[in-house]
Amino acid sequence: MLTSQRKTELYDNFSRVRERIENAKARRGAGPDVALLAATKTVPAEDIVYATENLGLTLAGENRVQELCAKYPDLVGKCDLHLIGTLQTRKVRDTVGKVSMIESVDSLKLASEIDRRSREAGVVTDVLLEVNIGREENKSGVLPENVGGLLDEISSFEAIRPAGIMTMAPICTSEAERRKYFSETYRIFIDIYLKKRHNIIEPVLSMGMSDSFEEAILEGATEVRVGSALFGSRNYAQTL
Ligand SMILES: *Cc1c(COP(=O)(O)O)cnc(C)c1O
Repeated sequence: MLTSQRKTELYDNFSRVRERIENAKARRGAGPDVALLAATKTVPAEDIVYATENLGLTLAGENRVQELCAKYPDLVGKCDLHLIGTLQTRKVRDTVGKVSMIESVDSLKLASEIDRRSREAGVVTDVLLEVNIGREENKSGVLPENVGGLLDEISSFEAIRPAGIMTMAPICTSEAERRKYFSETYRIFIDIYLKKRHNIIEPVLSMGMSDSFEEAILEGATEVRVGSALFGSRNYAQTL
C-alpha cells in the first residue's frame, strides 16, 4: 500500500507534468499530440500500477530487461510498455512480446534479432531508431548520417515496424544547446518520415526528459520520457 503522502505526491507530480506539457503544446502551436511515457527505472511496480489505476498513466518505459521481467507480472495488462534502455542482443528474446515498442535500436544486428524473435513469437514489434545526436563517444545510438541507411536496411523485415526516432540529448548546460540538438533530431525525423521515405502512420519522435521535455515539445517531439518529475528523484524508494 502506498502511503497517503506518496499518493498525494504522485497526484501532484502527474498534474504538474501534464500541465507543463499542455503549456508547451500551446506555445508550440499546431502539431501532433504528445504522449507521456513514464520512465520507471527503480520505481516499484506498486507505484506504477497505482498511477495506471488512479492517475491515467497508459505508457511506461523500462531501461533494463531484468527489471522489466521482474515487474512484468504486475504490469501486464495495466499499461503499454516500452523498452527505452540499451538492449543487448542476447536479451532480445526476453523482451519481445512483453513490450509494444523497443526505442533503442541502433544496429542492424540488433534489429535482425528483434525481427527473428518477433517472428518466432508471432508478433510485430514497433521499434524506434536511436540517434546519437551529440555524436558522443561511448554512447549508444546511430550517427545522424547513418539513420536513413539503417532504416532502409530494416524496412524489409517482416516482424519489425520502424515507427520513428528516439534520442537522448547530451547533458547540456543551456536550454539553447538542448533545443539545437532537438531541432537537429527533428530535421532527421522530417526527412525520413514526413517526406514519406517510410510510410508510417503517425510516426513517433521520442525526445525530452524531466529537465528538457518542454524544449523537446517546442521542437516537435510526439513522445516525452519523464521519470524524476513524475516519481521523484530516483533513489526515492531508498530514502523512505
Ligand atoms: C531515466 C530515463 C529517462 C527519464 O529521465 P528523467 O531525468 O528521470 O526524467 C528518459 N529516457 C531514458 C532512456 C532514461 O533512461
